[in-house]
Amino acid sequence: MKINELLKKRPTLSFEIFPPKNNENDITSIYTTISELSKLNPDFISVTYGANGSTSKNTCQIASTIKNKYGIEAVAHLTCINSSKEEILKILEKLKNNNIENILSLRGDYPKDYDGHLKGDFKYASELNEFIEASFPDTFCLSGGCYPETHFEAKSFEEDLQNLKKKVDAGAKYLVTQIFYDNQYYYRLVKEARKIGINVPILAGIMPAHNPKQLKNIAKMSSCSIPYDLAAMIDRFASYPKAGREVGLHYATYQIIDLMTNGVDGIHIYTMNKPEIAKEILKRTEYIRDEFFKC
Ligand code: FAD
Repeated sequence: MKINELLKKRPTLSFEIFPPKNNENDITSIYTTISELSKLNPDFISVTYGANGSTSKNTCQIASTIKNKYGIEAVAHLTCINSSKEEILKILEKLKNNNIENILSLRGDYPKDYDGHLKGDFKYASELNEFIEASFPDTFCLSGGCYPETHFEAKSFEEDLQNLKKKVDAGAKYLVTQIFYDNQYYYRLVKEARKIGINVPILAGIMPAHNPKQLKNIAKMSSCSIPYDLAAMIDRFASYPKAGREVGLHYATYQIIDLMTNGVDGIHIYTMNKPEIAKEILKRTEYIRDEFFKC
């Protein structure tokens, strides 16, 4: 099923996982993760695509297991920054042959050794959307990433929003946000997006942080700000891992309850391949979710 069809009926609950990284390219541990996550009945599970195509084979294989073994909708992430059209076509063919109907279509980050020249055929995610739609009409439900606190390369929030519209006009049927810890940025994004005619659902990406180092890393990687109260609580319990974990889970739970109170289009949990994180959050929101997803 295409995710946009589901979103026409109600908000969604989804999880994100990534192909395990290790020297042996052994991805078997992910199958336990999927098995555990499947018990939580998500609407879909998305699988990231390694930067610049690394682990790309695994993305399709893992997405295929989610869909074809567990019967849960899978979303395969796909980045294009260093890829030729031929390479992308091969991946699309493979996804189609594996019954994958949903793609989170992304540009990806510039390689670390970027010298101003790219060997790929694409500059932006919107170009990838156009290419997929032209090559495989009506085959995939495309979605895109969006940035409540502005993508780090954009000159301004307004410019980034205009570029986001191009991505939606080129075929993205819904959007998933980058991690944020201050819900006000999400509300601003939705409000301003609607004003310029971006009317697709915007799913909120949530990721609990458990200790100061992790929180700083997430903030750096995602270019998101850290609210003072979250930083203070995480710092206060830095020496007590179990307490730090409770802080992270409580804060994520608070964010989700606030988002549901304000009618969020969907909740997307970045699980970091730890099913217990998703499980704990769902336990803490059981009755709220019952009420919210009824709508
Ligand atoms: P784009 O939408 O192309 O935007 C990139 C920049 O270019 C922005 O600053 C934008 O304002 C600007 N821009 C866009 N279009 C135009 C235009 N037409 N003219 C001028 N400027 C323009 N990375 C991975 O490697 N693998 C993953 O699996 C992955 N999953 C992600 C999931 C989510 C939900 C999100 C939010 C991000 C994910 N990323 C992933 C990270 C992503 O690849 C980076 O944030 C990347 O830098 C931007 O990708 P994008 O698709 O948003 O780019």
